[in-house]
Amino acid sequence: MSASGPDVIDYQKLLDEIAREVEPLYGQGKVASYIPALARVPARKFGMALTTLDGKTYRTGDATENFSVQSITKVFTLSIAMAYMTGELWRRVGREPSGNPFNSLVQLEYEHGVPRNPFINAGALVIADVIAAHSPDPKGLIRDFVRRTSANPSIDYDLEVARSEAEAGFRNAAMANFMKSHGNIESPVETVLDIYFTQCSLAMNCVDLSRAFLHLANQGRSPITGDEVATPRKTRRINALMLTCGLYDAAGRFAFHVGLPAKSGVGGGIVAVAPRHYSVCVWSPELDTTGNSVLGSHALEMLTNRTGVSIF
Ligand code: GLN
Repeated sequence: MSASGPDVIDYQKLLDEIAREVEPLYGQGKVASYIPALARVPARKFGMALTTLDGKTYRTGDATENFSVQSITKVFTLSIAMAYMTGELWRRVGREPSGNPFNSLVQLEYEHGVPRNPFINAGALVIADVIAAHSPDPKGLIRDFVRRTSANPSIDYDLEVARSEAEAGFRNAAMANFMKSHGNIESPVETVLDIYFTQCSLAMNCVDLSRAFLHLANQGRSPITGDEVATPRKTRRINALMLTCGLYDAAGRFAFHVGLPAKSGVGGGIVAVAPRHYSVCVWSPELDTTGNSVLGSHALEMLTNRTGVSIF
């Protein structure tokens, strides 16, 4: 924190500086190509948006360009599922970091079809199954939750991305079938995969995402809509899971360098939450080997270093 405190930080200047300073990092990562529709996204993009608790949004670069949200949606679906089930949910999915890639199969077999946490793919498939069991329209429910929390009623799925992932989603299908064999998936596997691929295809921009996560910086209440999106206790728990599991096997490194609860996606987005200060979203499609945005991770490290705001 600067001597005069975070409230007087010139966020606009800071974001513009960061956008300039990350530019030399282009070319160090690779755009996700295992989902054919994502491989077509231009690599050299960088956007960043930060929303403070008074609802003011600062933005730089490509912050209003839509991208594929992918695994960041796992925070939204967890939030919805936690409203349906409390204790019971944690018998079907764990709360430990996996230390493995997000699409690893090996751990799932050792652990009898119970995924380590809700943010690896297997965990998100269980969460999709929970939502399917409680809602007649799971995809509509997820979309409406996102529209409401981000205060943007035009947000929608990109069904071409969903179709593209469905055609190439063999690993996710393997996980869902394996968990079904252990009785940890109730609905038909195709139903669960359809919800999961569709949720991952949500198209949003940095501004939308920084707003949609703002309640997590404010004990569950959105300063933008005034809604209590989550209780304070649920908010603490979601933030704890993001800190320990949000960046998969890079969660430790990210906590070390950035020190904020965060969630990444293979579309190149990362959203981070600074409780009592702001939520921030960065987007840049080139990924490191753990599937996290190269420029995005560096940008968030610069932000923490310059604001001094972290949870530690
Ligand atoms: N839809 C992607 C997948 O299942 C999501 C992964 C991610 O964003 N980390 O592989």
